[in-house]
Amino acid sequence: MTGDAQGALAAAGVDDFRSKTALQQPTWPDSAALERVTERLTQVPPLVFAGEADVLRDQLAAAGRGEAFVLVGGDCAETFAEATADRIRNKIKTILQMAVVLTYGASTPVIKIGRMAGQYAKPRSADDETRDGQTLPAYRGDIINSSAFTPEARIPNPERMLDAYHVSASTLNLMRAFTQGGFADLRRVHAWNRGFTANPAYARYEQMAMEIDRAVRFMGAAGGDFDALKTVQLFSSHEALLLDYERALTRIDSRSDLPYGCSAHFLWVGERTRQLDGAHVEYLSRVHNPIGAKLGPTATGAEAIALAGKLNPDNIPGRLTFVARMGADKVRDALPALVESVRDAGVEVTWLTDPMHGNTFTSVSGYKTRKFDTLLDEVTGFFEVHAALGTIPGGLLVELTGDDVTEVMGGTEEIDDEGLARRYETKVDPRLNHQQSLEMAFLVAELLSQRDGNQSIPLELL
Ligand code: PEP
Ligand code: MN
Repeated sequence: MTGDAQGALAAAGVDDFRSKTALQQPTWPDSAALERVTERLTQVPPLVFAGEADVLRDQLAAAGRGEAFVLVGGDCAETFAEATADRIRNKIKTILQMAVVLTYGASTPVIKIGRMAGQYAKPRSADDETRDGQTLPAYRGDIINSSAFTPEARIPNPERMLDAYHVSASTLNLMRAFTQGGFADLRRVHAWNRGFTANPAYARYEQMAMEIDRAVRFMGAAGGDFDALKTVQLFSSHEALLLDYERALTRIDSRSDLPYGCSAHFLWVGERTRQLDGAHVEYLSRVHNPIGAKLGPTATGAEAIALAGKLNPDNIPGRLTFVARMGADKVRDALPALVESVRDAGVEVTWLTDPMHGNTFTSVSGYKTRKFDTLLDEVTGFFEVHAALGTIPGGLLVELTGDDVTEVMGGTEEIDDEGLARRYETKVDPRLNHQQSLEMAFLVAELLSQRDGNQSIPLELL
């Protein structure tokens, strides 16, 4: 980008975050390398187009009104090594299958967002990690350092931001190819299920796929137009944690002359970095993407209202999403006051539930894990709270993978503490595997079909 463009961005306030406190940032040891990389990143093509972000904003606004439901899914932390065609395809397939279950099961359009193509930076509760008496800097995500437990691997390396950009670009390319190129055609719903071993979630999915086939054939016989079934839109998202990277990928939209974060369509600020006067909130307040803010059990109504005032001063529907991550044991106590205050203040917001991050614990055998039933309990609580207040439960954010990992306990295959060791691969938080993701979708479809205004199709008929 030219100096002029950087001047326009600065004039639009996108550098103002630099005078604020930025938590969870690496200390780059080589500042010349940092300068070189960020300069390069200001020149590369944007990963997303501002117009796409606008489309998503309007869709999120619809979800906020209860006219659609949002599904955000993907890894806690993507890794460069796992950005392979197979793994990306499996993840996309999982999200699409969940979306089909929700769409058909609850007669609701589903807005699909991958926690993909950029989810490479992680906030950590401790700066260091100790193993067998050796203490090293914590792994902060592939965009910063390597998870290998050696002193060299843990040194923050700015060159990794360029790798993150390129791996994001190739991931996004595949996301676009699969969703636009025929793979996501609704007439292939059966094909997405092939290759998986028999189990209750897949059998139920197969049953639903048959119903959908029948409905599609009926529509065809009745002269229906199938163009809408051929492609789907799958947006990208990640936590906008690493500000050097986000700032370098900020662009002025040629149509509107407004700044957009062009690393992903949807960006969010995490529970640990959402301070009102902090650098992350400042940065996000300046870009025009749809954005999210995580809210944990200690968040107050006044805080949420102040955040909305800063992040969405014009109260534009779809601009701001609050992602509640309370914990199953707290959601019914902590969420009502928050939702009520926000509602009473007239704040336009789309509410999502993240049932993952308030429900993590260490198993007896020493794995960081979550229990499937607890996750479902938090989602249920989220729907109950909104039903009681007459507000809209707008969507679900889950950490998932398309592979058969064993990281979350429970589900119909009953992964127990011993079972976790079979295939525990996550670098940070435990993810639903493919089958658990589908099970979650069926259960959430039941909750969603009871949501006010949704036409309910009893699931036993599907
Ligand atoms: C996450 O989404 O992986 C995360 C760190 O969440 P939170 O900010 O809610 O803790
Ligand atoms: Mn996580």
